[in-house]
Amino acid sequence: MQGQMMSMPLLTSSLLVHAERHHGDREIVSRRVEGDLHRMTYRDLAARSRRLAKALGRLGVHSPDRVATLAWNGHRHMELYYAVSGMGAVLHTINPRLHADQVVYIADHAEDQVLFFDLTFLPLVEAVASRVKTVRAFVAMTDRAHLPASKIPGLLCYEDLLDAESDHFDWPSFPEESAATLCYTSGTTGHPKGVLYSHRSTLLHTFAAALPDALNCSAADTILPVVPMFHVNAWGLPYVACMVGAKLVFPGPGLDGASLYDLFEAEGVTLSAGVPTVWQGLLGHVGNKGLKFSTMRRTIIGGSACPPAMIRAFELDHGVHVIHAWGMTELSPLGTVCSFKAQHAQWPVEQRLALQSKQGRAIFGVDMKVIDGEGRELPADSLVSGDLLVRGHWVVSRYFREEGKGPLMDGWFPTGDVARIDADGYMQITDRSKDVIKSGGEWIGSIDLENVAMAHPAVAMAACIAAKHPKWDERPLLVVSLKPGATLTKQELLAFYEGKIAKWWTPDDVIFVEEIPLGATGKMLKHKLRERFRDHVLPGV
Ligand code: ADP
Repeated sequence: MQGQMMSMPLLTSSLLVHAERHHGDREIVSRRVEGDLHRMTYRDLAARSRRLAKALGRLGVHSPDRVATLAWNGHRHMELYYAVSGMGAVLHTINPRLHADQVVYIADHAEDQVLFFDLTFLPLVEAVASRVKTVRAFVAMTDRAHLPASKIPGLLCYEDLLDAESDHFDWPSFPEESAATLCYTSGTTGHPKGVLYSHRSTLLHTFAAALPDALNCSAADTILPVVPMFHVNAWGLPYVACMVGAKLVFPGPGLDGASLYDLFEAEGVTLSAGVPTVWQGLLGHVGNKGLKFSTMRRTIIGGSACPPAMIRAFELDHGVHVIHAWGMTELSPLGTVCSFKAQHAQWPVEQRLALQSKQGRAIFGVDMKVIDGEGRELPADSLVSGDLLVRGHWVVSRYFREEGKGPLMDGWFPTGDVARIDADGYMQITDRSKDVIKSGGEWIGSIDLENVAMAHPAVAMAACIAAKHPKWDERPLLVVSLKPGATLTKQELLAFYEGKIAKWWTPDDVIFVEEIPLGATGKMLKHKLRERFRDHVLPGV
């Protein structure tokens, strides 16, 4: 017997329709590339998205064409999110920090038809315009007054496209399994792989992300996503904001500590989200100037392990609650969130802070398990780590246009992360499998060692990599960059490890560098360090 409830496909356009009807006056504020601070409402967003959908139709875009963006977080990017997917085409967000060759590879692989870009990325677009095979129209996301002279043939102007249309448009209905957006993994090893999200997976992810024990978003919030809209849909926040009716503040290109802080304060931001490297800049600025956050209450930190020293600084010095989260491009991206259970309310502060450095527990919709080398599931509270596997409504089942059997193992997606899960269900990443240090047959988790170094007041960033050792195979080598003006010796740093970790985990050597290389999404590029220090001879070898 069938249920007898209404059946409506889960489409992203429904989020926009809801926001317009029920939160129409709520604001969307954008710091733009043109230098101004732009204000509009959800009502405006909905009207402009409808005009954009019509303009896309006029450009010959049909379902399931891919429409690419190279853009910062801003209202025009948000309009593209809703217009492209809403009309049945597929929004392909490209990371503008990638090398031109990678942009060409990705655009060709995705067979992008139209490319929208912020003015910042004009040089990049000019470098790729004659090379991308399928793109037939380029659109600068600006108005006529700011449209630059360019070699790009037939360059179109975003605001002209919108001005030419009325906002009378009905979002089409189609199956919820249809593709909505496409995002490529950062491809630190091998070519980037495309993950094709469906409308259904996006909507279910949005419901789950908004929940109190996940990102905890409501109509009372003012959300500033620092995490870019070009990487895994800004962790879903552009959808969550419409679902709950939160005010949105987009920082555009200004991601330094001072720019972010000013925007937080001016717009009354209550919730933000980003990778640890961004927060390092913000905390540095706030610390140097002796500033306080007057409205910020929570910040979501993920993308790489949040150092315990950062959690402590936010929580104790600034009264900002840290929501540590783990995810991947292949997971839309949310997998786990570190929120407390009832019993943790009684815990002393130190114990709560320690718990927060774990990546958290599975949110409903994602299941996870850890297996050993033989494929056996490790029990909860196992002391050893293993390979983390996940499955769920918003987990990839195969990569875009990849032939062959796909990534799944017995219906589970192998994350490439090494983790353990405690008795309460809190998962802790100890490493990525390719970063693990194998010393005398035992594994040393590089993240733990980095976290200790990052707690030292002189250290800006620390990466721990495996160095070759004749007896133990591999031993930990710590590569460190210092804060401006700080001094620190190898002996002082190694002494700092005493009592904080098992003695045999202590790094064998420390190398000080000017800068640790970061990838396009702000993560440390350890493979680059491994290449650079491949022949490093450890002391005593
Ligand atoms: P890519 O895999 O292309 O680098 P992703 O953004 O998808 O890009 O990265 C996902 C990976 O980032 C995870 O597999 C994990 O290794 C790491 N990661 C994400 N969040 C965390 C976190 N909170 N702690 C530790 N590692 C994290």
